[in-house]
This record gives sequence, C-alpha cells and structure tokens, in this order.
Amino acid sequence: MSDTSSPADATPEKKDFIRQIVRDDLASGRQSAVRTRFPPEPNGYLHIGHAKAICLDFGVAAEFGGWCNLRLDDTNPAKEDPEYVEAIQDDVRWLGFDWHSLRHASDYFDVLYLAAEKLIQQGDAFVCDLSAEEVREYRGTLTEPGRNSPYRDRSVEENLDLFRRMRAGEFPDGARTLRAKIDMASGNMNLRDPALYRIKHVEHQNTGNTWPIYPMYDFAHSLSDAVEGITHSLCTLEFEDHRPLYDWCVDKVDLAHSPELVKPLTDKGLPFEAAKPRQIEFSRLNFNWLVMSKRKLLQLVESGRVDGWDDPRMPTLQGIRRRGYTPSGLRLMVDRVGISKQNSLLDISILEGALRDDLDAHAQRRMAVIDPLKMVLTNLDGNHEESLTFSNHPKDASQGERSIPFSRELWIEREDFEEVPPPGFKRLTVGGDVRLRGAGIVRCDEVVKDTDGKVVELRCTLDPTSRPGMEGANRKVKGTIHWVSAKHAVPAEIRLYDRLFTVADPDNDEGGKSYVDYLNPDSRKVVTGYVEPAAAEAAPEQSFQFERVGYFVADRYDHKPAAPVFNRSVTLRDTWASKG
Ligand code: ATP
Ligand code: MG
Repeated sequence: MSDTSSPADATPEKKDFIRQIVRDDLASGRQSAVRTRFPPEPNGYLHIGHAKAICLDFGVAAEFGGWCNLRLDDTNPAKEDPEYVEAIQDDVRWLGFDWHSLRHASDYFDVLYLAAEKLIQQGDAFVCDLSAEEVREYRGTLTEPGRNSPYRDRSVEENLDLFRRMRAGEFPDGARTLRAKIDMASGNMNLRDPALYRIKHVEHQNTGNTWPIYPMYDFAHSLSDAVEGITHSLCTLEFEDHRPLYDWCVDKVDLAHSPELVKPLTDKGLPFEAAKPRQIEFSRLNFNWLVMSKRKLLQLVESGRVDGWDDPRMPTLQGIRRRGYTPSGLRLMVDRVGISKQNSLLDISILEGALRDDLDAHAQRRMAVIDPLKMVLTNLDGNHEESLTFSNHPKDASQGERSIPFSRELWIEREDFEEVPPPGFKRLTVGGDVRLRGAGIVRCDEVVKDTDGKVVELRCTLDPTSRPGMEGANRKVKGTIHWVSAKHAVPAEIRLYDRLFTVADPDNDEGGKSYVDYLNPDSRKVVTGYVEPAAAEAAPEQSFQFERVGYFVADRYDHKPAAPVFNRSVTLRDTWASKG
C-alpha cells in the first residue's frame, strides 16, 4: 500500500444489504431497536469463518446503538466441554466485542415446552409414531409431494396426553416425535410437518436429567430469538430454506402475546423483550488453502497432525491468534470481504493481505537475524560499544524511538552475503560494500571458512565517514542489510510457520485423497536466531515487523524476555503467489 494512513483506522459507513435492511426497518418503524445474537454450538473451537459472523452480529448492533447476545446453542445434549465454552468467550472478547447477556438455548427449555403445548392446543402440532425411516418414506421428494402421517389427525387431548408422557420419560428414544402440522405437499421440504421435539434419554450438560425430550434446531432457534427480543437474526445462507419455518414458529407461538409462556423465564429473573425477529441470511466465509469444518479440524487435532486447537497453523481463532493475527487485521479482512448473498471461495491472499496491511500500519519495527553469519568490523576496538537511535515505525512517529546497541561483532543474515554473487545481487560480496541499516557502510575484505569450506565469518571495515549524520552517510551503495550486535543480541527460538497444506484445495476428493494427504511437511520450521534487546523485552502477543524478514509475534504462552520465542505471522510479501 502506498497510502500512509492506516487502512484499519478508516471506517467509512458500511453500506451492505444487511445494514441497509436494518436502516430501513428503523426508518419504517418495523423495528424500534437493533438487537442481535451470535449463536455458536459449543461443540468445537471458533474459526475464521465465525469471525465474519461475530463482526457482523456484534458490529451491526453496536453501529445502530443496540446490543448483541452471546448464545451458546446447546440444544443438542452432549458432554459439555467447558474448554469450548471458555474459548468461545475468549475469542469474542479478543475480537473486540462484548455481549449484552450470555445465554444458553437450554435456558429456554421450559418456555419451549410450553410453546409446544400451545401449538398442540391450537391444532398446529401432533405426536407422530412413525419411525425415522417411515418419516423419510412419507416425506416425498423434491418433485413429489409427501403423504400425511396416519397420526396427523389425533385429537388435541390425545396429543397433549402423549406429549406429556414423552416429557415424563415413558417412551424409549425414537418411539415418537412431536411434529408441526404444516403442509406435506409444500415445495419447501422444511415445511413438510417437521419434527419439533424428539425423545432422547441423554443427560444434558446444563439441565442434567431434567429432560428426556429435546427441541429440534428450527423450533429452538427461532423461539430463542423471540424470547431474547432479537430483532435481526443474521445467519448463513444454508438457513434460507428454513426461514419460512422460522417465521411459522415465531408467528404460531406468538410469544409477544403469550405472557404465560415466558413466565418460567421472568420467574428466573431473565428479562423478556417482545420483538418479532427477522432472519436475514448472508454468505459463509470460505478461503482456499484452509479447511474450516469443525469435524475436520477435530480430526487434525485428535490425530496429532497439529499441536492442538491453538496450533498457529490452525484456522481456529485461537490458532491464528497465536500465529499473530490481530483483531484489527481480522476486522479489516471482514470489511474488505464485505457482506453478500453470493457464496464463494476467496483467495487466502485476502486474509494474509489484511494482516500484512494492519501490521504494516501498527507493528513496531525491530531487527532480528534468523540465519546468522558473524561479521567482524576489524577497524573498531575490541571493546567498542555504542547506542544507536532508531525510530520504532517509519510512518508513525507516535510509536517513539529505541536504542540499539552496536559493537565490533555483529550477526547478519547468511543470505545477505554471497562469495560468488549471482547476476543482479545487491548485497554483500568479497570486496564489495553494503549499508548496515542505521550504522554506516561496510566493505568486506575477507572471509573466514571452517574446515568444510563453509564461510563462518566476514572480516569487514566500517567506513568511518559513512556513520549516520556524517557527510559520507549518503554515499550510494546498492544494498542495505539488517544486523544485530553479537554481544548484545538475545538468542531466540523462531518458529517459521507456513501454510498447513501444499495445495489450494485440500478438500478435493481426487483419487480418493483427502486433506490429510496434502499436509505441508515444511509448515513449521524452528530455528535459533538473534533478536535485538528491545525485541526480547516484548510482551507476549506483541507483534513486530522484523525488518526485511517478516512479521512476527511473541508467542502467547512460551515467550519470555530471557528466552524469547517468536512465531512468524506472515511474510513481508506473498511468497506463494510466484510458486504458481
Ligand atoms: P461449522 O460447520 O464450521 O462447524 P457451524 O455453522 O456449525 O460451523 P456454529 O457454531 O453453528 O458453527 O455457528 C455459529 C454461527 O456462526 C452461525 O450463525 C453460523 O451461521 C456462523 N458461521 C459458521 N461458519 C461460518 C462461516 N464460514 N462464515 C460465516 N459465518 C459462519
Ligand atoms: Mg452448527
């Protein structure tokens, strides 16, 4: 980017179709406030895709002066992993958002049960004894209507009695379901008398053994929105076909006019705000080079192919956070991607580019050498030591300055020297000169080799007239390289992360292969390098541009000033683009 202003700081008013709908709803009086929710199922870690939903749900609420709830969608009884619930909260906060109220869908099991009884009493739901297989047979196909269940015309009394006995635990799993009575001929399969409740004698993480029956997703989700007074229920496109059922549940139950249904809530001290929620769908975020389904990520973790959910190569928010992705970089990515109804596979360069631009604007600069070669400045005293002043950011004076120690022996990057330079080589060669960033110009007089003929030391002369501030400082030389003082630099563990897969479409199923067959064996290399003292002092999670090397972050868990650990977040340029 040539623009020197920070791209992340520019926040023009967003004009996507969802915000336009919200604006129109407020203007027309269809809604008087904006209340949203982010509803993850606590069955895994959040990933980059969820960042889009989070930024949208919380972002829209904040922009219009409303609020957003964090609702853990725990309608499926499962062994709770408190680990997931904690990570989800951590991730949302890290992205810079805070919820109005933390809820669980299971908070509403009493309300949902009463709502189901109301539907039965209205003649809108019935208890069906068909087996799962029979239900499938009766459902019909996209081209053929379904057939009514033989149990569809049970009396209200019989339905109520059976449903109450389902609730009392009298029947085994799968023996019966409660189904909505809608339309078995509907062109929308979701409206062909969908199940609302099923029998499942499974302990629930939050409600224990209170319930032998559990509500189905569409019923629970729509009514949870209604219970919380959500005005705009934003979700991904695969729920578009569910919207008519969502509306059916909300309208038939009509919580706003049924205070008796929400009594279990108000009794518990939970507020009830009546609103008719409106579902709006947007496209999922997908990037090439990544796999994002929770099932596949779980397999990578469980098979030990990565070091856990927060492995810096994982697309989980915990993983990319550890990798050095910043909340502002992710929000910038989400803004750039925009909101639409068009599903697409985006190029990973959009994600990496947003991080690069964010770090370029905000990360302080440091010097670090990751593949060290010794340079001795023979015309300096053995005990020569001085402090040079460097600005922390070339485009942002407010980031201040720091001192970098300079002395007779330095570490430079091995690749910045070539004994036999290839054509066009601009850095150091024997007899050539190069500028040491901020310290003057050196000429290489000779090299020292080990017994294998490997160059282990460069013996150089520092041009005394080329020091910063002197007249010769501006003398033209082809290259500038970075360095650290050998005596002062701190050895650091440097983890060079790269893409986890070797192909852009790891999910392709060609020739019976799967994503685990495309793991990049070079996705992590660990080297020992040297960093300037001001880099070693970093706080965990502090990001830097190591000049000429890339963007790095002090590891969230392992970094200590006395034993620094840095993770490569992203290279300075897209090094994969040229690999074709
Ligand atoms: P996955 O299939 O990856 O496990 P999910 O949709 O089952 O994801 P949930 O926990 O149910 O995950 O999702 C919570 C919210 O995040 C939902 O509203 C969902 O639509 C949204 N979401 C999930 N994945 C994406 C994505 N890739 N892009 C945008 N939003 C997403
Ligand atoms: Mg889900």
